[in-house]
Amino acid sequence: MAPVDHENEHPVPAYGYAARDASGHLSPFKFSRRATGETDVAFKITYCGICHSDLHFIKNEWGNASYPAVPGHELVGVVTEVGSKVTKYKVGDRVGVGCMVQSCRSCTSCAENLENYCPGMILTYGSKNLDGTITHGGYSNFMVCDEHFVIRIPDNLPFDGAAPLLCAGITVYSPLKYYGLDKPGMHVGVVGLGGLGHMAVKFAKAMGLKVTVISTSPNKKAEAMERLGADAFLVSRDTEQMQAAMGTMDGIIDTVSATHAIVPLLALVKTNGKVVLVGAPEKPLELPAFPLIMGRKLVGGSCIGGIKETQEMIDFAAKHNIVADIEVISIDYVNTAMERLLKADVKYRFVIDIANTLKP
Ligand code: NAP
Ligand code: ZN
Ligand code: ZN
Repeated sequence: MAPVDHENEHPVPAYGYAARDASGHLSPFKFSRRATGETDVAFKITYCGICHSDLHFIKNEWGNASYPAVPGHELVGVVTEVGSKVTKYKVGDRVGVGCMVQSCRSCTSCAENLENYCPGMILTYGSKNLDGTITHGGYSNFMVCDEHFVIRIPDNLPFDGAAPLLCAGITVYSPLKYYGLDKPGMHVGVVGLGGLGHMAVKFAKAMGLKVTVISTSPNKKAEAMERLGADAFLVSRDTEQMQAAMGTMDGIIDTVSATHAIVPLLALVKTNGKVVLVGAPEKPLELPAFPLIMGRKLVGGSCIGGIKETQEMIDFAAKHNIVADIEVISIDYVNTAMERLLKADVKYRFVIDIANTLKP
């Protein structure tokens, strides 16, 4: 097969940063995007968040990478063009795109506004698009996307802090709702205080819950409680602290990106408690039967959220003034940011200033 001519594959020139191999090193990349179709919205990207999934992906930790890989699925910006049949958006609107850009639109999941569980879901990057080309994400200058998958960013939310809502935000909001862990007064644990974890604390607090952070980083305690509003903080390696909290939680949102033990987490939930995994470590986790049987406990999972729910989450965030705590970086810092992300050294989301730092 002839190599893909990325610059001429589509009619509109685009540029961004791509990884070329499993080293994950990102460098400038010229490519192209399709012309704005009838139902498409094109927008200039102003900011893009860095999700740990971007890092898993460019290093091919999930075994599904294709190179060159332009990551980024927390992109926001301003509409520059709309197709003739677009009804929801106009030029100048503030919009964003999360993890998906298309789905089959006809299966039962799609019919239930759960495009995120559609077998035909097309991811924002690294997926085969309808035209057979590979999708490229938001570490780039502009985006074209079917209007159905475009989210409106409310005026009172700043672009940079809102970008991470599109993945980190919805990924924790959706399971809190679906698993019924959203009733005021309930006690939830949030494991891993990173991008997803800190959003979980903010949403859970806004829902009126009691929140305990369970972390490997004792140095995050003061901020978790004072700044993010967590009610308690457990150091997961401190068995005494963990034991004292046994059986106290209604549920747990586990956002950890690396292999870790879930049995100690099962011990933290009450009878009928739920441990929901959203973190996606590359290796399987150990799940013995007894800690589940004893206490009728449930381990579940959750993948981002549907488009309708994503808009609902953003509107909820706007109402409660919820945005991510971010460190804004220039695109040429992106490889250093990835190294720091791997070491859990970010409070709490890197966001790339695309508009001011990405040059052709
Ligand atoms: P992140 O910012 O790196 O946060 C992960 C946190 O996990 C770290 O801050 C750290 O928190 C904790 N952690 C890291 N290594 C650990 C270890 N070895 N043992 C225990 N805890 C550890 O990552 P993120 O962007 O929030 O993403 C988290 C995970 O969710 C990733 O695997 C990502 O791919 C996945 N994800 C899933 C979905 C979905 O739809 N399900 C969507 C987005 C992301 P402490 O310092 O507090 O311990
Ligand atoms: Zn993500
Ligand atoms: Zn479908």
